Amino acid sequence: MNQYDAIVIGSGMGGLVTATQLAAKGIKVLVLERYIIPGGSAGYFEREGYRFDVGASMIFGFGEEGTTNLLTRALDAVNVKMETIPDPVQIHYHLPNKLDLRVHKDYEKFLQELYNYFPEEKDGIKKFYDECWQVFNYLNSMELLSLEEIRYLIRVFFQHPLSCLGLVKYLPLNVGDIARKYIKNPELLKFIDMECYCWSVVPADLTPMINAGMVFSDRHYGGINYPKGGVGKIAETLAEGLEKLGGEIQYGARVTEIIIKNYVAVGVRLSNGTEYYADRIISNATRWDTFDKLIDNDHKPKTEKKWQKNYKQSPSFLSLHMGVDAQVLAHQPDCHHIILENWDDLEAEQGTIFVSIPTLLDPSLAPEGNHIIHTFTPSSIEYWKSLPPETYERKKEEAAGRLIERLEAIFPGLEAGLDYMEIGTPRTHRRFLNRMNGTYGPIPAHRLHGLLSMPFNRTAIKNLYCVGDSTFPGQGLNAVAFSGFSCAHRVAVDLGY
Ligand SMILES: Cc1cc2nc3c(=O)[nH]c(=O)nc-3n(C[C@H](O)[C@H](O)[C@H](O)COP(=O)(O)OP(=O)(O)OC[C@H]3O[C@@H](n4cnc5c(N)ncnc54)[C@H](O)[C@@H]3O)c2cc1C
Repeated sequence: MNQYDAIVIGSGMGGLVTATQLAAKGIKVLVLERYIIPGGSAGYFEREGYRFDVGASMIFGFGEEGTTNLLTRALDAVNVKMETIPDPVQIHYHLPNKLDLRVHKDYEKFLQELYNYFPEEKDGIKKFYDECWQVFNYLNSMELLSLEEIRYLIRVFFQHPLSCLGLVKYLPLNVGDIARKYIKNPELLKFIDMECYCWSVVPADLTPMINAGMVFSDRHYGGINYPKGGVGKIAETLAEGLEKLGGEIQYGARVTEIIIKNYVAVGVRLSNGTEYYADRIISNATRWDTFDKLIDNDHKPKTEKKWQKNYKQSPSFLSLHMGVDAQVLAHQPDCHHIILENWDDLEAEQGTIFVSIPTLLDPSLAPEGNHIIHTFTPSSIEYWKSLPPETYERKKEEAAGRLIERLEAIFPGLEAGLDYMEIGTPRTHRRFLNRMNGTYGPIPAHRLHGLLSMPFNRTAIKNLYCVGDSTFPGQGLNAVAFSGFSCAHRVAVDLGY
């Protein structure tokens, strides 16, 4: 009864894509999720008629064409479909020195906005973004599977030799190196830093070029598409597809230990003492949670200690989930905004502000006449640690007040139009997303060579794999879907499928 081919710890997008891919191949798979619903950072919660996305809301990978549309592909693989709503503008930036511009789905229209601000850099701007397209076109020409599987590598090399050689060239590069080749204006370079920071949470010098190629081009290719019914629907639909194919998923199932016998992962133990066994164990928890909490220190591989020297935990977020009167948004038609008043605060605690207003695309997520504003800003657990309950509550209210005051510049009347508000801190992210210190994921601890040091899915412990944002190629729903495809591919081959 308790024996499976594969067990997946966690039902984040990385875990679910792995599990559905395995189930689609006929592999007997069990997913164990600590929380009450699937999705992890791509989950949702409901309050007073509002359906809030907990995290992700700017969704890549939902296009119809090419090979990089991995969310579309993951759903197709288990014969389920979702309706999506195209977003004509990826981000509306509100930056220092009145730099106010939109990233339109239409590539030329976006470039034109940048040319208007930096006419002397027209040539450099075009060359920089065109080089990002080059990376995207390489990726988008081939099937994306496990780079740890030699037969796949040989096949894909013979099918697409130029794309493979191109990607090998870009793998060790960071965005800053390419941007400075073409662009001199310091303010424009700051803008490129922000273009990276808003999804990699590090500036261009630390952001791998492969990821930038994906993000900076897919937004104009497949575009940004919002799932009807909210982001949580993606995980729910995948979980439904998994069960239809005979896969199992248990909620409220907290894994407390990965059982290791003779240095081989053989099973897991839950907090209630139940044990499940499988030929392959896959952890969708972060690497810190996996190797520092689920495995005893004697079995912690040296490779993980080295990884932790190269990568540190990014900060978490202070989040406000607000329900507001529709009047507040009367003059702001765009769904996603990034706000920063002073370039020096780009990476500061509670510096850059992210805003998402999904009800502009799907009004069904809020009561009639109201909208959702989800805003968040990077914040570290240190800022919220060891506070007595009253001080913690006061600090939350003060931080929320400061954030709303800053947002009033873009959304006048916000405070007066508030109908509902929930404040989340890094402690909330830690508790509900089950991520150490609530971290958004790994970021380079020092300047690294692009994605070269990011591990794939196998680990130094036999039959134990990792999937999700602490594996290649990193954070973001489409990125962890990539990790899920490659993990399932590697596991299936190892199981003889
Ligand atoms: C505020 C915020 C905004 C974001 N915005 C975007 C965006 O706009 N676009 C985008 O593409 N990405 C965005 N992201 C990033 C994206 O959401 C994540 O990179 C991605 O969802 C991570 O997926 P994952 O599968 O790696 O892990 P997770 O989503 O963390 O899932 C891991 C799962 O494992 C479970 N788990 C952990 N430990 C155990 C255990 N011991 N036992 C059982 N279950 C366990 C957890 O409960 C969780 O469900 C955002 C993230 C945040 C936090």
